[in-house]
Amino acid sequence: QASLQKDVSATDLKDDKGFKGHSMLAPFTAGWQTTDLHPLIIDKSEGSYVYDINGKKYLDSLAGLWCTALGGNEPRLVAAATAQLNKLPFYHSFWNRTTKPSLDLAKELLETFTATEMAKVFFTNSGSESNDTQVKLVWYYNNALGRPNKKKFIARAKSYHGSTLIAASLSGLTPLHQQFDLPAPFVLHTDCPHYWRYHLPGETEEEFSTRLANNLENLILKEGPETIAAFIAEPVMGAGGVIPPPATYFEKIQAVVRKYDILFIADEVICAFGRLGTMFGCDKYNIKPDLVSVAKALSSAYLPIGAVLVSPEVSDVIHSQSNKLGNFSHGFTYSGHPVSCAVALEALKIYKERNIVEQVKSISPRFQDGVKAFSGSPIIGEIRGTGLILGTEFTDNKSPNDPFPSDWGVGAYFGAQCEKNGMLVRVAGDNIMMSPPFIISPDEVDELISIYGKALKATEERVHELKSQ
Ligand code: PMP
Repeated sequence: QASLQKDVSATDLKDDKGFKGHSMLAPFTAGWQTTDLHPLIIDKSEGSYVYDINGKKYLDSLAGLWCTALGGNEPRLVAAATAQLNKLPFYHSFWNRTTKPSLDLAKELLETFTATEMAKVFFTNSGSESNDTQVKLVWYYNNALGRPNKKKFIARAKSYHGSTLIAASLSGLTPLHQQFDLPAPFVLHTDCPHYWRYHLPGETEEEFSTRLANNLENLILKEGPETIAAFIAEPVMGAGGVIPPPATYFEKIQAVVRKYDILFIADEVICAFGRLGTMFGCDKYNIKPDLVSVAKALSSAYLPIGAVLVSPEVSDVIHSQSNKLGNFSHGFTYSGHPVSCAVALEALKIYKERNIVEQVKSISPRFQDGVKAFSGSPIIGEIRGTGLILGTEFTDNKSPNDPFPSDWGVGAYFGAQCEKNGMLVRVAGDNIMMSPPFIISPDEVDELISIYGKALKATEERVHELKSQ
């Protein structure tokens, strides 16, 4: 048993010598990693790059955690935060007291979301809190309408909606459930819309989507439509491995959801504000949601903030209850934090002024085509993505059914090779994910592709070696 050294600071960890572990119980990190492996300590950021504590530079191909849309040193965001900190570092939004940045941001968000009309905005501090809030809003709505049994949620296998108790329940990733007695009993999961992995022999994308919509309808009928309150989906699934929807999927799913008076929640935490080459994922896939969750790029991650956009139908019902029920009894100390709101307002202003959607649209073919050119590699099953989001899945024989032995650590080896060559990617088993900042330049995309190519070559050699042992 390694003894835990509890008094280390980042400076003590500047190099590997005498490393005995650190004091953080770190998120999504194995305990043994914090004692046995030196952590990568990021110290500074600049555009699409971050630097570690020893000065090594990395191209940040995941934009932090899919979030630093404007890169690492946007001075206007720093100025917006500083000005607000100097004027009013905090005031809350409870009891009909609030601040100007919160009001302005709510208005701006409603104007920015145009896929369908939205009436109100509720502020949170994160994507998880946004999705937890969705569940409470939907329950409140159905209670108000006198439908106390319409409380179940349908989410999808491999989805990621966050890690608080309810958001983790909505998520469809096994480790999030197994370790914590989840999902909560009111959450059901339907099929993951991953065509390459799950289509039947000879089935087209359209037929696959029809089958999934039929499966969803059968699940609703089996449970009883009067018990199903809402369906939640990411326009492009992110942490589950970057899975864009197959052709006609959302059209068919929305028809089923509407037929049974089930609310549609779009989890836009990754997709919103330009990532897919449209302002929202809903614009790209013609989704008309009742509720929307955002976070991450809302402030380009410079400060924590999330939000829920609420349709007129849902907000009217909540409004109409206020005489009877009194206060809407939900909220966080930092709901609508003025400094976070000021930074988010500035981020939205920058997205519009610089036409960030067009920028993403024009750079993304270079990124998508450049990486997808490696699709022929014998160790790659599929490379998939759209806009500035992309996933690579390593499998043997180019088949979804032939995973490499997990103890070969193929994905981890690729990730380590990227890191060695100066690029950070997200590794989840044999899935590699990338979602660079919206401001990535053509030269930086070329660098990303070049490092990807080097790491892939080394990984192919490693797999060859392991196979011949
Ligand atoms: N929804 C989606 C689609 C996400 O990708 C994430 C985070 N990766 C969340 C929700 C949760 O957001 P947070 O980590 O800010 O709670």
